[in-house]
Amino acid sequence: MKVTDHLKAAKDTLFSFEILPPLKGKSIQSIFDGIDPLMEFNPKFVNVTYHREEYIYKERENGLLEKIAIRKRPGTVGICAAIMNKYDVDAVPHLICGGFSKEETENALIDLQFLGIDNVLALRGDSIKTESSFRPHKDGHEFAVDLIGQIGEMNSGNYLMDDIKLEPTDFCIGAAGYPEKHFEAMNLSTDLQYLKAKVDAGAEYIVTQMFFDNAKYFAFVEACREIGITVPIIPGLKPIKTLKHISFLPKFFHIDYPEELSKELLKCKTNAEVAEVGVEWGIHQSKELKEAGAPCIHYYTMSNSASVKSIAKEIF
Ligand code: FAD
Repeated sequence: MKVTDHLKAAKDTLFSFEILPPLKGKSIQSIFDGIDPLMEFNPKFVNVTYHREEYIYKERENGLLEKIAIRKRPGTVGICAAIMNKYDVDAVPHLICGGFSKEETENALIDLQFLGIDNVLALRGDSIKTESSFRPHKDGHEFAVDLIGQIGEMNSGNYLMDDIKLEPTDFCIGAAGYPEKHFEAMNLSTDLQYLKAKVDAGAEYIVTQMFFDNAKYFAFVEACREIGITVPIIPGLKPIKTLKHISFLPKFFHIDYPEELSKELLKCKTNAEVAEVGVEWGIHQSKELKEAGAPCIHYYTMSNSASVKSIAKEIF
């Protein structure tokens, strides 16, 4: 079932979450161990992230360094199929522009269709870790809007290289939105215009980057509505878990902590104390979002379902 159909059928705020494929070599059980504790809250869909290749350097016998591409977290599509099979819940694979030619994208979408997966979160993707900015595949897409356009074309029966119409796919397409602005955008206003372009190209709902200040989400939704973005906007929340997260999350995701939260975090001396603050803050944010009628609250587990469970117990 499509994410948008779940949202339409919902009588109250839905619960959903995102997981990462495990590091290469770990079994599917490690994924199930993260999902099992959250199933009692009746998630309507589970997102699975996509991780592109990274480059490492290996020293050869002659002393020269060899650049090798590796993918540390493969398996997005297989995990989606396994989740749907085991839990009978919809899985939403993330599909990115980075590293994909248009033809590879088309073939990946055909695989998804054969597996009965009719949801996709269409993203540009992060840059390769060792590169300072995003570089598209030479035969691929530069922006998420172009990927959304390609999926939209397939939904109309227009595949690459074919002059005749083929059997249309029926993907429900989601896109990413940034209440605190995407870090590369000139300003929030241009970022919102590009977000609108994604919706105009066929994105049927938006999932936001994590944020810790609900006021920023509410202002973002209002700004979206003002420029004619009418699709559901699902807030994304991340429970802070460790001392390392305190500086990592703002740095990596380009988000700020509100004053009140940062004061509480500064008092923490251990991971356990941070996790407690993270859960309390997550409950506070979730309650307010639910009361305000958020269509769904989407939790970034980042392989940590314990904190999400503690929050969900109070909310769903
Ligand atoms: P875009 O919408 O293409 O925007 C990228 C930047 O370009 C923005 O600054 C935008 O303002 C600008 N822009 C957009 N269109 C144009 C245009 N036509 N002309 C000029 N500028 C333009 N990354 C992964 O690698 N794997 C994942 O699984 C993953 N999951 C994510 C899930 C969510 C909910 C979110 C919020 C992010 C996720 N990301 C993931 C990170 C995401 O890929 C990065 O934030 C990436 O830098 C931007 O992706 P996007 O789809 O928002 O890009």
